[in-house]
Amino acid sequence: MTKLKKTRDFLKSLRFRLIVLFILLGTLPGVLLRAGMLGTYENRAVLIRTSEILSQAKILANQIVSNDYLNQNASVPMINVQLEQLSTIYDGRVMIIDDSFRIVKDTYGLDTGKTVISEEVMRSFYGEEITKHDSENRYIELSVPLVQSESGRDARILGVMLVSVSTDNISLNSDYLARATMIINMVSAGIVVFFGVLCAAGLVKPLHKMSSSIESIQTGYGEDELEVMDYTETAQICEKFNEMLGRMKVLDDSRQEFVSNVSHELKTPLTSMKVLADSINSMENAPIELYQEFMADIGNEVERETKIINDLLSLVKMDKSLADVNITNVNINELLEQILKRLNPIAERQKVELVLESFRPVSADVDEVKLSLAFTNLIENAIKYNHEGGWVHVTLNADHQYFFLKVEDSGIGIPEDSIDKIFERFYRVDKSHSREIGGTGLGLAITRNAILMHRGAIKVFSTEGEGTIFNVRIPLHYIS
Ligand code: ADP
Repeated sequence: MTKLKKTRDFLKSLRFRLIVLFILLGTLPGVLLRAGMLGTYENRAVLIRTSEILSQAKILANQIVSNDYLNQNASVPMINVQLEQLSTIYDGRVMIIDDSFRIVKDTYGLDTGKTVISEEVMRSFYGEEITKHDSENRYIELSVPLVQSESGRDARILGVMLVSVSTDNISLNSDYLARATMIINMVSAGIVVFFGVLCAAGLVKPLHKMSSSIESIQTGYGEDELEVMDYTETAQICEKFNEMLGRMKVLDDSRQEFVSNVSHELKTPLTSMKVLADSINSMENAPIELYQEFMADIGNEVERETKIINDLLSLVKMDKSLADVNITNVNINELLEQILKRLNPIAERQKVELVLESFRPVSADVDEVKLSLAFTNLIENAIKYNHEGGWVHVTLNADHQYFFLKVEDSGIGIPEDSIDKIFERFYRVDKSHSREIGGTGLGLAITRNAILMHRGAIKVFSTEGEGTIFNVRIPLHYIS
């Protein structure tokens, strides 16, 4: 086997597919979980941080207003301390802007006294609380209006508190989490691959076992039955396989039996001819009459051999797989009349009364030659296996689907234990009697095959010493 074929076989194997499946099932959930978890973690952390700072900023904004911080020139120590604390705790910067957009306090001390005009500040002067997360530059920005509300008067916005806080530590946490989950994912993927390979090998093992068992059955060594019970499926396959094997054995046996029967039947007339020829040759000065008698016997044996060969050929032609059927619409009444006309001389010789009774005109789509052979065999048997002075009644009837043929005789009948065997090839109840009257044991096998070929049925009822009835049913229209 070439390397390429080996690789292709492996890629097409159930084992490889199982390995891929295990790897996908083992790693995909981890990868998806990681992607989903990291995204959610960052969003939630920013959200919590924002709402925390917002509430702190609002409390401070209230204190700034109530302590008149803006008018005190940003020199209320208690407020300043709290502003510093806020910026230290959250690693950020706090700026207080008065109503002339001047920065009165900057916890970084960089921009105090400068003027700031930004969209957020402007919107906060209209009373809006604004929060914004800039994920690229990693910071959260809040702007909270400093609102003075006196009873009975409209709220007045004195200034704006601008807080910007770094989200570096959230990003750091998120990066750490990403690294940790990546490691967990890789480790679990490794474990999954390892166990996946092991499991796949274990799961396909019974299949390998099956294939090697079949191989040993084929070669004739080892068991003669397949038995791999590891899975319900393999047990079912084994059961079906053994059934098939049994059928093949029966077929093989019957084929062998048929071949040995054929050789035996063909050899018998030849042996007789040889004996006849040898004995006449060994006689010195044998009279011409004896020669004539022996030659007549040899002629009979040749006739018999020819009959066996002809019957065998008919049987082969009836074989379902080889048969070429020639279906035409045939008048069955006329067909039977012709058969009876042909058989009448034999019946007269045997002193058997032959009667045909047709209940209605019947025409059917059949193979005339094959069916004629089948009906001839049945009627000829009824005459052959009869007593002197006996009778044979042939009846034809039909319904809308089938036509029915009944061949009834007053003959010797068939013993009960032979009834099931008479359709077998070469089976004869009384071998010597059948031979005497020119039977080959193939007639009923041919008949049955011809009837089955027409999707018909044949049944036999018989009482030994009283007579036999053959019932045949054939569809009026041929079913291929
Ligand atoms: P054969 O060539 O010997 O007649 P068949 O296949 O036609 O072979 O029949 C098989 C055997 O069935 C016959 O040998 C005979 O013993 C028995 N048989 C068939 N038809 C009848 C019948 N109508 N009455 C009694 N026995 C019959």
